[in-house]
Amino acid sequence: MKLFEYMAKQAFRDAGIPVPAARVVRDPDAAEEAARELGPVVLKVQILAGGRGKAGGIKFAQTPEEAGRAARELLGMNIKGFIVDTLLVEEMLDIQQELYLGMAVDAAAGLPLIIASTKGGVNIEEVPEKYMVRRRVELPWGMLPYVARGVAARLDLDPSAEKQVVDILTRLYQVFKSHDAELTEINPLVITPNGVIAADGRLNVDDDALFRHRDLPSTEETSRLESKVQELGLSYVELDGDIAIMANGAGITMATMDILARYGGKAMNFLDAGGGAGEDPMSQALELLISTEPAAVLVNIFGGITRCDDVARAILTVMERPGGINVPLVVRLVGTNEDEGVRLLKEAGIEAYSALEEAAAKAVALSRGEA
Ligand code: GDP
Ligand code: MN
Repeated sequence: MKLFEYMAKQAFRDAGIPVPAARVVRDPDAAEEAARELGPVVLKVQILAGGRGKAGGIKFAQTPEEAGRAARELLGMNIKGFIVDTLLVEEMLDIQQELYLGMAVDAAAGLPLIIASTKGGVNIEEVPEKYMVRRRVELPWGMLPYVARGVAARLDLDPSAEKQVVDILTRLYQVFKSHDAELTEINPLVITPNGVIAADGRLNVDDDALFRHRDLPSTEETSRLESKVQELGLSYVELDGDIAIMANGAGITMATMDILARYGGKAMNFLDAGGGAGEDPMSQALELLISTEPAAVLVNIFGGITRCDDVARAILTVMERPGGINVPLVVRLVGTNEDEGVRLLKEAGIEAYSALEEAAAKAVALSRGEA
């Protein structure tokens, strides 16, 4: 689970990492008020995506009036698919240098990994590897002082800034550990005349550890469609291709995507109807998939507990509704009550495949308008 910047910074503040004075606001008047208290400010949209600066999500204001105006422009903006409803108004910093400091999990080594650079800021992705410092943290010792000093020493800082970075890195490790984080990041960590300060903050908590962090507010934004499908007790995931997939089980759903990919197709979303979903939820689920306007729908059912005739009836129900099925549909149907299911579909003019390869190839062809 990703936390918003202002939540990450609260965790940093609690751990003793210097962060700018700030207010969280949700309307322009509150932004103006915050600027009256803080002086010149930076207004930053609170969304669960990085690169806000480049996307126009950060504005500077010298006066309270300017801050109010900037807030009016930012609130309600659509940035990277998120509608902005919250801003962080922060005292403006006098930045002399931008560093990068982060901790991630080195999955191969199974250890926390420190990542640091003297060239932090909005272009961190383009910084050459020779300017990046990486060092694993050995468990169970944790962040030993010499490790933190060793990282800071490679950043070419003056002695005072170097000492502050050692302290911040040590505290950042505590944040990382106490939150069961999979990633925490300060980009940029800035050098100012008033010391080294975390100007930005990211903190992603491992989903599998959330049961240990019940105090954290839930930030996960599910799309409207996702929550609708969840109400039906099925799982639905949005992807970026153009073919919708409906299958019955996590394994078969993954396999369907793989085979689709082998035939040059790409899933736009998938709906896992699970085992034993009844006719009614299945027809509602299919309707939802169709409403996403895919280039084709591929239904892949291996009937065990799920009965093929139920699946067929669910498809027919959707066909008979107003609007019907107005996108190319390909069905692969095998298993329990297969004969009955295939017969029902055939009567309605739908050919059911028994080989997934053929069905996938057909779905890809139809999605490209080839018949
Ligand atoms: P991001 O684009 O989502 O990573 O947002 P950041 O909070 O990292 O801000 C992007 C950039 O805006 C930073 O790298 C800074 O260059 C600049 N910036 C942010 N806050 C301040 C500030 O208080 N003073 C100044 N001068 N620049 C800032
Ligand atoms: Mn940043």
